[in-house]
Amino acid sequence: MVEAELLRVIHVGWINRAVQNLAQGSGVRQDFREQLEVFFDLLGKAADTGDPSWLDSILQDWSSVLTQTDLEDETSSLSKIIQQLATITLEVCKETLQPQDALALFSTLYPALTYATHKAVEEELKVRINYISNQLSEAKQALERLDQTKSDFIAVAAHELKTPLTLVEGYSAMLRDQIDHGSPSSYEIELLSGIANGTKRLRAIIDDMIDVSLIDNSLLSLNFQPVWLNRLFVALQNEVLKALEDRHQQLTIVPFEGSGDLTFGDPERLMQVFRNLILNAIKYTPDGGYIRLDGRRLPGFIEVLVQDSGIGISLEDQSVIFEKFTRLGNTSLHSSGKTKFKGGGPGLGLHIAKGIIEAHGGAIWVESPGFDEQKCPGSTFHVLLPILQAPPDDKSAKLYLQLTQHYHIPEEIYKTRHERT
Ligand code: ADP
Repeated sequence: MVEAELLRVIHVGWINRAVQNLAQGSGVRQDFREQLEVFFDLLGKAADTGDPSWLDSILQDWSSVLTQTDLEDETSSLSKIIQQLATITLEVCKETLQPQDALALFSTLYPALTYATHKAVEEELKVRINYISNQLSEAKQALERLDQTKSDFIAVAAHELKTPLTLVEGYSAMLRDQIDHGSPSSYEIELLSGIANGTKRLRAIIDDMIDVSLIDNSLLSLNFQPVWLNRLFVALQNEVLKALEDRHQQLTIVPFEGSGDLTFGDPERLMQVFRNLILNAIKYTPDGGYIRLDGRRLPGFIEVLVQDSGIGISLEDQSVIFEKFTRLGNTSLHSSGKTKFKGGGPGLGLHIAKGIIEAHGGAIWVESPGFDEQKCPGSTFHVLLPILQAPPDDKSAKLYLQLTQHYHIPEEIYKTRHERT
């Protein structure tokens, strides 16, 4: 018998067996029998012409209707269904035909069935990849929404807390005035300084929260003024003298090339960055350790290094500490003190520092051999700041024109941000 006739013989048995075996796994779709008829017909054509691509269209159709359950449930995958159809074909050939005819027909159908299996795997993989990448992008959108909600919450909370805090600050200042006019007892002075310390810390946290929301919403604006980094460093050194004394630490400021040159930046914001880096260095370095401020001039940039002999930071954590609310290690060590050893704060400082430095057109990163509380390998924070010969906005540039002329800034060293980009 020729193949076409043999196919006609097994046709009904093949369809019935396939419906019976596969209906359960495929969720009994209405047109399932019709679909199997089409597959059987195309299988015959593929075998007849020797061109298995006849099966492409139906395999694509089948893979495109794979449901979410099919994709999540490995057992009802399309490639498995095609494998089952191949087994059914062999069984029905054996049961319905003479052994010789069964062998002849199955040998003719075999290449098309093998092709169909491979093609099913390929199509299914495409659908799966699509499905997974859709899921990933949905998860990404959900995370972005969550991050935005977090930013909105920070902004709202900070502004809501600011008003009552201003009231507490105002009334406590009035109370201090009142008491100062009499002869306050040491107990009264202690109570007032307790309130003053508390409000100062609260103000610092609220200011940090506001800075985070400004940075996250790209609203941070800089007030460009002349800056001499060495002067900032000396001012900061005076600020942290008491903390260094308490922790028996030494801060060395190395006068490096470029640190005494004029550049433009927001001095308040730059102080905030270096204050944070120095206070962190004090905080994460054991008593008796050292902190060193060094740097170098690079073409168009100044690189400042804040080095410490502290506990260091693992490679894995180096990439996350600039994200907001990153506090490494034991959260029970959380302390609002700015210089207590390992007394972690709210985890906003480095995120703000990064925002400020990037707003200046610079970069900030950390280097450390790793985290080790015993050996204390130390950390080095790098701050790369562009050297500006004038403020980037025209109004301030006009204002400081005379100053820049007076300092005779060499062209090749000082280039404005506009010129470099
Ligand atoms: P905070 O100090 O408020 O926790 P930061 O954003 O300033 O937040 O720092 C984030 C984390 O980075 C800190 O909790 C600390 O684990 C780590 N870190 C920062 N500076 C240093 C440093 N100099 N040495 C070791 N770890 C540091």
